[in-house]
Amino acid sequence: TSPIRIAIAGHGNLGRGVEAAVARSPDMQLVGIYTRRPPAQLQPLTAGVPVHGMDALAGHTGQIDVLILCGGSKQDLPEQGPQLAALFNTVDSFDTHARIPEYFAAVDAPARANHKTALISAGWDPGMFSINRVIGEALLPEGATYTFWGKGLSQGHSDAIRRVPGVAGGVQYTVPVPAAVEQVRSGTRPQLTTRQKHTRECFVVLADGADADTVRRAIVTMPHYFDEYDTTVTFISADELRRDHGAMPHGGFVIRSGSTSAGTTQVIEYGLKLDSNPEFTSAVLVAYARAVHRLHGQGQYGAKTVFDVAPGLLSPHSAEQLRAEQL
Ligand code: NAP
Repeated sequence: TSPIRIAIAGHGNLGRGVEAAVARSPDMQLVGIYTRRPPAQLQPLTAGVPVHGMDALAGHTGQIDVLILCGGSKQDLPEQGPQLAALFNTVDSFDTHARIPEYFAAVDAPARANHKTALISAGWDPGMFSINRVIGEALLPEGATYTFWGKGLSQGHSDAIRRVPGVAGGVQYTVPVPAAVEQVRSGTRPQLTTRQKHTRECFVVLADGADADTVRRAIVTMPHYFDEYDTTVTFISADELRRDHGAMPHGGFVIRSGSTSAGTTQVIEYGLKLDSNPEFTSAVLVAYARAVHRLHGQGQYGAKTVFDVAPGLLSPHSAEQLRAEQL
């Protein structure tokens, strides 16, 4: 069988991660990268892959089996997702949890009308964590679900501290409180407040002449972002920021703790420890691209989420092989 023809729309961290993941998937071939910037500005990792302007996509509908949308959730996907789902089978990582229902509807209509399959909100959260929350609750209906994030770099919180006056640069790590994780793992089903579950660690480069105490106060009292957490602010040099904080690690745990009869406790845990959040997210997107290609072949059109995709469809191996080797 011929390889699945994959293309990338948007070449940031996820776009580069998709390149790396496709290179590790022998049943796939990267046929193009599409960008809003001048194509010559991009430096793809894949030798020989053509880079086009985004406006070339409409003329390439017959050359791409699945288009992986690697734009940002805030500005790019709300516009690109519905437009491109009218032309291609798509996979994206839309992660604004509160807006997933409206995004689903906006993608579903054009995909259905044009007989395309569009998998939204894949990745790890939303994505693999979501699946584990649903399975945990289905298997242990009497119980509680806990999600811990980190230790990891939060892009949104890092952006927020960089907007504080007097900050020249900085990053923010979200860290699960070890005692809270252990308590949950023990099966006691504690009720935990926001402050009890995670702490926030900020590493900040001060702008020339800025006052450290004023900056610290502005960060730790910032509504929504930091005021509900115990936040530490450590001031570092621009060199230290570059040297020690350039990676994008992340991860976390989904834990379901429940009872199947009086006094019988069962605990399920799914954990991730990621050197690179975007590379892992991209690896998930690429596996779902395989599933989308198959769903489309079965005539399953419209928007889908990870809840709609059977696990076997993610695997490069046949159902027969999976039954023989993995069941
Ligand atoms: P990013 O690096 O900022 O890239 C987003 C877009 O910005 C790219 O598609 C690219 O579009 C443009 N871009 C990238 N580098 C640029 C540059 N140097 N100058 C100008 N434009 C540039 O974002 P990302 O890290 O790939 O993340 C994308 C989204 O993934 C995030 O918004 C987040 O919502 C989502 N995400 C989801 C999960 C999950 O678990 N579901 C996990 C992680 C991230 P053009 O090539 O068209 O210019």
